[in-house]
Amino acid sequence: MKSVVATLTFLLLISCTIENDNVPLGFDQVYSDDPEQTMMIDIIYVQPTSVSQQSSYNLDESDFIKNLNGSFFHRYGIGLEKGDIKTLINDELYDLRDNRGEESRIFLMQTQNSYNPNRVSLYIIKRAHTVNIAGIGKNQRALITDEFLYTPTAPHEIGHALGLLHSTIEGNVMSKIRPHLRREFTNAQVDQMKSVMKRIEDL
Ligand SMILES: [Zn+2]
Repeated sequence: MKSVVATLTFLLLISCTIENDNVPLGFDQVYSDDPEQTMMIDIIYVQPTSVSQQSSYNLDESDFIKNLNGSFFHRYGIGLEKGDIKTLINDELYDLRDNRGEESRIFLMQTQNSYNPNRVSLYIIKRAHTVNIAGIGKNQRALITDEFLYTPTAPHEIGHALGLLHSTIEGNVMSKIRPHLRREFTNAQVDQMKSVMKRIEDL
């Protein structure tokens, strides 16, 4: 019984449900020329083995990272930098909708050999290939479905990838409720992300 509870808690911590998060960002952009601490983000597009079923993602990675910095991270002294752009061929991860309830475990398992331990890795799959998950984040890795890239789900999952848990403060980036209101980090969250970034860099 104990292990069932532990597994459930683990899943709740790392899979984030969708709940009305498809509101475009309308935040004031704040940029810094010299953020206190920077972190490379690799972007990894997940594709199936069948070439005929492969998807086109059409993401402008530079614009995406710039938007994350301006909307969420630079104001806290954190700078995300575009790292490598890669593709991971993996049917199980591409079709996460087949793993109801097991998505977080599958995500961590299927990505364990494809991420760089000195960076954060952001895996992207099609929203249509999931059921009730907008994103997952844990252990330097985040999964975001393509329809949620320009929503507060992206910084939320990056927060998880950098060690943050959920917050009960409305409007906090790590809040589970009313995701469209997510926009702020607390000082404690910023300190924690910076310390994880430092640890990753020093590995
Ligand atoms: Zn979450």
